[in-house]
Amino acid sequence: MSFQTAAYLRKATGRAKSDVANKLVSMFLHEVSRKITAKIGFNVADEKYVHAVETEFGGHCCYCGRLLESDRAAVEHPDGMNRFRAGLHIPGNVIVSCKKCNNEKRRDDQLHELTLAKTGWESFLSHDGTKCGEHCKTCAYWKTIWPDEMKAKNLKAARRKILDFRERYEESIELNRKAHNSLRRELDKIYRECQSFATDRIKKAVEAVA
Ligand SMILES: [Zn+2]
Ligand SMILES: [Zn+2]
Repeated sequence: MSFQTAAYLRKATGRAKSDVANKLVSMFLHEVSRKITAKIGFNVADEKYVHAVETEFGGHCCYCGRLLESDRAAVEHPDGMNRFRAGLHIPGNVIVSCKKCNNEKRRDDQLHELTLAKTGWESFLSHDGTKCGEHCKTCAYWKTIWPDEMKAKNLKAARRKILDFRERYEESIELNRKAHNSLRRELDKIYRECQSFATDRIKKAVEAVA
């Protein structure tokens, strides 16, 4: 029991450190997003863009299609804004989903390398229950949303709808795509340097007070 407590506490310390690094990752991606939206001359807060999202998704989750109530909605970045997917807050990559899907998608988003699809969001929509082992949590999730006979068809339709929407913002999506490799390189560096800075700096500060 005491060993478990120690492991749990160690894990919590590790988590706090990666929270800081992830915050930096997000700040960096937002800055790059600002640069790109300045270049293309419009951003996701523009009325025209908001209206386009509204019209296309009609207040429904972009993945599962359920009606969004205000307490269940999340701003969704199909290409996740993390160090693996390097998605940006730009037109075409900002839509709406339910909190449940937003949360379930994280499993695919946090993979170093994707195997089911080229992008995290398409990977999320590829768990039709035929490609993963029986313990796959995402396959199990989709099983709770639709009966088996509708699942593959609905997953495909959701993918098509998002692809069509993103095609309208090809210019910004393409800038994100082109920058992907260099973004990932910078993100890895930022993440690593931030963690080592946090470790060293805290160690010194702890020595100074105790
Ligand atoms: Zn959903
Ligand atoms: Zn699966």
